[in-house]
Amino acid sequence: MGKCKNHPEVETSYCCMKHNYYLCEQCIACNDPEIYCKFRSSCAIYFLEKEARRKKEQKAGS
Ligand SMILES: [Zn+2]
Repeated sequence: MGKCKNHPEVETSYCCMKHNYYLCEQCIACNDPEIYCKFRSSCAIYFLEKEARRKKEQKAGS
């Protein structure tokens, strides 16, 4: 566990292993999604961001 990079008072377990910082659920976003990242396959941040984007697109489509 660590503290969100944008919210020093919020504890979170979502960690960017490439840049070595934590993000809370509100802040979750990959720092550079266009660039290759060797941690991506196991990155919760990237996964959740992708899920959120997919849900948004589904809502927009219906
Ligand atoms: Zn935050």
